[in-house]
Amino acid sequence: MEKWICRTCGTHFAPSEKQPEGCPICLDERQYVWYNGQQWTTLAQMREDGFHNEFREHEPHLIGIGTIPTFAIGERALLVQNEQGNILWDCMSLLDDETVAGIERLGALTAIAISHPHYYSTMVEWADRFNVPIYLHEADHQWVMRPSERIRFWSGDSYRLAEGMTLIRLGGHFSGGTVLHWEAGADGKGALLSGDIIQVVSYRRWVSFMYSYPNLIPLPAAEVQRIRDTIEPYQFERLYGAWFERVVMQDAHDVVMRSAERYIRALERVGR
Ligand SMILES: [Zn+2]
Ligand SMILES: [Zn+2]
Repeated sequence: MEKWICRTCGTHFAPSEKQPEGCPICLDERQYVWYNGQQWTTLAQMREDGFHNEFREHEPHLIGIGTIPTFAIGERALLVQNEQGNILWDCMSLLDDETVAGIERLGALTAIAISHPHYYSTMVEWADRFNVPIYLHEADHQWVMRPSERIRFWSGDSYRLAEGMTLIRLGGHFSGGTVLHWEAGADGKGALLSGDIIQVVSYRRWVSFMYSYPNLIPLPAAEVQRIRDTIEPYQFERLYGAWFERVVMQDAHDVVMRSAERYIRALERVGR
């Protein structure tokens, strides 16, 4: 029995004798299958191929962890150091002894929370290794490819993960699309950890919102308006997107508000 990893999205599948028929996450219209067909690997193979993880401090108590060379979507996790225990936001495929030691050095991990299925990766492997629960929004339960008792599905629009740490369901890119509001972030001005539920674009004074990023499928104006209105009451100065360089360093709340308004205006021009 082997647990296969999809090379395109990084998702770990439940143990099987043969490789899975296909990857439902990549066959979905929000992802893609490479032109050379579905490719699989394993954790052991990844370690043999020379992948390793790099830790980078974004700001005090916030450490980014990414795989080198880039693997799958280029998933980068964020570890938030919290007095009540550390939280891993989003996840990535490669887990090795060096990474475990690096995370343990940062303090006790108490939970994993994930924005959407493109970051489910090898989450169960991580949860088993650190003996912690994984928080996922129940609206995306169909995308879990390796079920586990570690997974706790939450429902509704928000969930208090710990003191000053709130999961907020924004939907959009995925029905259960979640962001993490960290009150103590950015020197107490607040930070939003958004994955690509809110996507930081190349010019980091703007963000965007898409149903599919690789296939360039937009969201309806009403959905962007709803995302804007849902996040509006939260205070945050900084926004951490899906990759190391995708960070809005200041005025992030304002950036999200005016980016949503620009997006809606652009959609309303169509057909005129
Ligand atoms: Zn896949
Ligand atoms: Zn995504």
